[in-house]
Amino acid sequence: MPTILVIDDSKLIAHVAKNILTKQGHEVLLAQDGETGLDIVRDKKPDLIPLDLILPGIDGYGVCERIKNDPSIKDIPIIMLTSKAEHADKVRGLELGASDYVTKPFDEGELRARVNTHLRIKELYESLQEKNRQLLEMANRDGLTGLYNHRYFQETLLKDFQRALRYNEFLACIMFDIDYFKKFNDTYGHQTGDVVLKTLGGLVKMVMRDSDLAARYGGEEFALILYHTKPQEAYNIAERLRKTVEQHKFKAGDLELSVNISIGVASYYHPDITDAKSLIECADKALYRAKEEGRNRVVAFWEIQPAQTSEETS
Ligand code: GH3
Ligand code: MG
Ligand code: MG
Repeated sequence: MPTILVIDDSKLIAHVAKNILTKQGHEVLLAQDGETGLDIVRDKKPDLIPLDLILPGIDGYGVCERIKNDPSIKDIPIIMLTSKAEHADKVRGLELGASDYVTKPFDEGELRARVNTHLRIKELYESLQEKNRQLLEMANRDGLTGLYNHRYFQETLLKDFQRALRYNEFLACIMFDIDYFKKFNDTYGHQTGDVVLKTLGGLVKMVMRDSDLAARYGGEEFALILYHTKPQEAYNIAERLRKTVEQHKFKAGDLELSVNISIGVASYYHPDITDAKSLIECADKALYRAKEEGRNRVVAFWEIQPAQTSEETS
């Protein structure tokens, strides 16, 4: 049920409006001055505000201006209640962001119609915003696994690395890749491969913390950002992930299949890691080493490239 806040110092006007709007099935709140009105707006976030222009204290223009300058309430439509049919008043109110006006004494049908029109517009606007939010979310996701996509991962890491630098925070990156996945596809078919990728996305979500970010980095390659995570903790999470995958029985029809993953871990702070790009590169180098060393294992970049080495050589 929409909530409507009538701000008018005339009790008569307020009650006439309340009767009309209550009959329409709206919940109606009343305020007799601007200050009280603003308090109720912030507290209750009504769906629409019929607003008298001449009020004791802050007048209607002031109320309108304050509402339109507050991002948390600025989208609530305002209908000015103006007793003077003067052109300039209406224009000023509309310029301040009011949606419409009704001239007092108002006609029941007109008030009802204008209120319903602006409630409808507000509803449409909100559903449009929600759709946009969903579209944006979809644009950031990988369709198969539901994890974030490559682009979103890159954009996010760029910002997150800057923050880690500025506040001197730990930041770790995990890259992993399915072992011998080409052979898996050749043996069981691409569709079964897709089932594995999808299930793997679920396993990643299960192992990682909600605060961290996981993405499908490429075809069968995944990447994670771990926030405020010390190197050893990142390593432990990687190892837990590797084991979880190793032990999982991937179901495909009657088959129960196994896959393994190789993982590279890199962590800021390390002298070779100076930006988002080098963090990814170092995790990738560690992943490459994990493949070289026989796969189904975790390799940490700081093990293959100890932090002191480059300081000593520089
Ligand atoms: P390695 O252990 O060295 O990683 O060997 P690999 O066979 O996994 O690596 P390679 O890079 O040679 O092959 C990757 C395979 O991943 C080939 C490709 O068919 C498969 N792949 C990539 N994306 C998808 C996908 O979206 N679905 C399926 N089913 N397979 C994919
Ligand atoms: Mg692979
Ligand atoms: Mg690969």
